[in-house]
Amino acid sequence: MQGNIAIDGPAGAGKSTVARLLAARLGYLYIDTGAMYRALTWKALGLGIDLEDSRRLVELAEGTSIRLEDRGEGGIAVYCDGEEVTRAIRRSEVSRYVSIVAGVPGVRQYLVKLQRKMAASNRVVMDGRDIGTLVLPGAPYKFFLTASLAERARRRYQELLASGQQADLETIMEEIRQRDARDSQREVAPLKPAPDAIIIDTSQMSVEDVVARIMSLIAV
Ligand code: C5P
Repeated sequence: MQGNIAIDGPAGAGKSTVARLLAARLGYLYIDTGAMYRALTWKALGLGIDLEDSRRLVELAEGTSIRLEDRGEGGIAVYCDGEEVTRAIRRSEVSRYVSIVAGVPGVRQYLVKLQRKMAASNRVVMDGRDIGTLVLPGAPYKFFLTASLAERARRRYQELLASGQQADLETIMEEIRQRDARDSQREVAPLKPAPDAIIIDTSQMSVEDVVARIMSLIAV
């Protein structure tokens, strides 16, 4: 068993938790590409940039340094221009607007280039929306995780509560619904499984079940 692992799927399907654990067990580097789009969105919101201004967003991307630090099972730390933004990028304001920033083709081109560079010198588990279809189409292992909308919203709700943040289940469900719609309907790299991806519905599975399933599939 060897080679990069691509994990895609809609918001809240468990991708990042599963990817992080897999990477730690395999000794691979974990790359959370969503964190990169979030970091850029965080910066754009902080600067008050008009999110309809695609050209400005591309310039912003090109002038921003985004760094991910893999902390093993403890997750990743995210730095934007040297400032740690690990928690800030999970705020609901960023979640609400990130798919608008991610819909800008030039922003995607720039971040995809960075993501490929990160994978060039390491063996990686990379999660996102377009990893199997576009970023690493040659990856030997591709998984597409899904779960019902209600279950995905419930998980996000629990995560926010556990991290001491306020949360409202209905609001989260609506935010996820809108984000999924934007991510699947955009023209560039829409959210969809690669033709050779294995689709796993995690609605009734624990994180450990999903990790074990993937470990067994890549062991053959
Ligand atoms: O994975 P996460 O939910 O943190 O991703 C946040 C958003 O970033 C997604 O809803 C999507 O708009 C964007 N994204 C993307 N392509 C990726 C990863 C994330 O468009 N590869």
